[in-house]
Amino acid sequence: MIRPRFVLAGLVSLALAAAQFSGLTARAAEALGAAPLNDFALSGELTQGGWARGVAPRGASQLTFDGKPVALAADGRFLIAFDRDAGPATQISARLADGRVAARSLAISRRAWKLEYIPIGPRPGAAPSAEFARRRALELAQINAARAIAHDSPGWRQTFIWPVYGRISGRFGSQRIYNGTPGSYHSGMDIATGTSGTPFVAPADGVVVLAAQSPFTLEGRLLMIDHGMGLGSAFLHCSKLAVKAGDVVRQGQYIGNIGMTGRATGPHLHWSIKWRDSRLDPSLFAGPMR
Ligand SMILES: [Zn+2]
Repeated sequence: MIRPRFVLAGLVSLALAAAQFSGLTARAAEALGAAPLNDFALSGELTQGGWARGVAPRGASQLTFDGKPVALAADGRFLIAFDRDAGPATQISARLADGRVAARSLAISRRAWKLEYIPIGPRPGAAPSAEFARRRALELAQINAARAIAHDSPGWRQTFIWPVYGRISGRFGSQRIYNGTPGSYHSGMDIATGTSGTPFVAPADGVVVLAAQSPFTLEGRLLMIDHGMGLGSAFLHCSKLAVKAGDVVRQGQYIGNIGMTGRATGPHLHWSIKWRDSRLDPSLFAGPMR
């Protein structure tokens, strides 16, 4: 689902455009398709749960997406992504070297999420104990602290690979509706190999920001990797973690083993991806499971 780049809204002089194109590397132009001129080059999955990588116009600064600043790498590249419930339209803009603003409207296509209608209300779980609440607060504090760490990792530039191959036992975005009341949607991809202990690898380069050796109540042994530029992966329910916080990992490197620690009904790897606070669909990063 690679969509063609959009046409710039607003025309500019060819001379200016040529000058701006000359500064782009051949590799960037090749990877992202047509020449950006004084527009953005953009490619990716412009759909809910998707992402786009781009190259800003030469000399551009102050890149803004959805009204919020976005970091530009030294080579002018950047990443933006679209939450599972993103609206149909958004915009990126940047200030050009001459002070003008280049803006691009993006149409974000809707997904048909798998919804399961349950004719009864949600199970009335017992009220959480004070002990659970105390533990959970500590776990969430660790998760939030890990998410606040920003490393300069190149993983966000890469084409992701699946951490492990197996049966998809739960898809990103699927949701149960209990007697008309939506439950929370599934925030990642569940991959089952039929057994515990199957090794899995890093889907892209990154830095380990959390490796919870002592299982969390819900996530179990939890591994979080920062891929740079606000993009991060989390791996839940692991039986073993082979890396520790601060470790630099490379795409394809063995990082742990799948399991069923925490709240899981069977052994599987739950892989989720976030960009900032947006929850994303891992299958739009790694492509179809082979
Ligand atoms: Zn899951």
